[in-house]
Amino acid sequence: MSRARKPEWLKTRPPSGERFTDIKESLRERDLNTVCEEANCPNLGECWSGRDGPGTATFMLMGDRCSRGCNFCDVETGGMDALDHEEPEQVADAVAEIGLDYVVLTSVDRDDLPDQGAGHFARTIEAIEERNPGTLVEALVPDFRGEERLVRRVLDAEPDVFAHNVETVDRLQWPVRDRRAGYEQSLSVLRQAARESDSYVKTSLMLGVGEYDHEVYQTLADLRSVGVDVVTLGQYLQPSRSHLEVSEYVHPDAFDTWRRVAEEELDFLYCAAGPMVRSSYRAGELFVDALAR
Ligand code: SF4
Ligand code: SF4
Repeated sequence: MSRARKPEWLKTRPPSGERFTDIKESLRERDLNTVCEEANCPNLGECWSGRDGPGTATFMLMGDRCSRGCNFCDVETGGMDALDHEEPEQVADAVAEIGLDYVVLTSVDRDDLPDQGAGHFARTIEAIEERNPGTLVEALVPDFRGEERLVRRVLDAEPDVFAHNVETVDRLQWPVRDRRAGYEQSLSVLRQAARESDSYVKTSLMLGVGEYDHEVYQTLADLRSVGVDVVTLGQYLQPSRSHLEVSEYVHPDAFDTWRRVAEEELDFLYCAAGPMVRSSYRAGELFVDALAR
């Protein structure tokens, strides 16, 4: 397959400015990782600045090495880091210092830990909420191999938003995701969150990995039927030549159509869709706007 050139709509400028520098310093001092920086996210300038000041940032908990190896993801596999028990407080400190109004907590998968990291998520949510009562917290968690007690451990910490990414349509789960992940398993995690908590439930899909339109529609319908409130759709970008190839650069108009289908036909609370959209894209502003509608 020939390598398609990136279209104009995927070109971005690097972020800059005083706020950007302040946030970076606060993170370095505490040795914290953000997905925003690690993944070189194209939305960094927009998210960290927010619309009227404080914005959204995504913290990566429990190290930067994953027990799994998904074919779309640039995170290193194996050689897991020891758990840093100070991390929940450090993240809460950074959120207070930076003054974020929406925080996304995510992690590598930690199949190596007895609770797969569920307790660490819960402690971090609680630490942030104690120190920053006005900050909205989204927990973007792994599938915990579908273990209900671990999902419940996170739900009991009462994140404002419980998120787990299904990533792609049923047929493409493998080769896109690690073989330990799966469509039904991810749906069951989302279903449990919708049933057992008052948290908003959110998920995300990448387009451009070989999916057909009818499969995207079916996936959106499945997600809605298990109680998912918010969905985001973005373009898959290949991190390196050894990762899964992009099968298509989806046009911005097609993303817009999916947004309308999700919001108007399937009644999601909101759908963020666009070539550069990532699951946490401007999450604070979009979430607050959707609740105000
Ligand atoms: Fe960070 Fe997510 Fe925004 Fe990217 S989309 S800058 S990862 S908060
Ligand atoms: Fe990357 Fe998550 Fe897959 Fe790990 S489980 S390889 S962090 S997408």
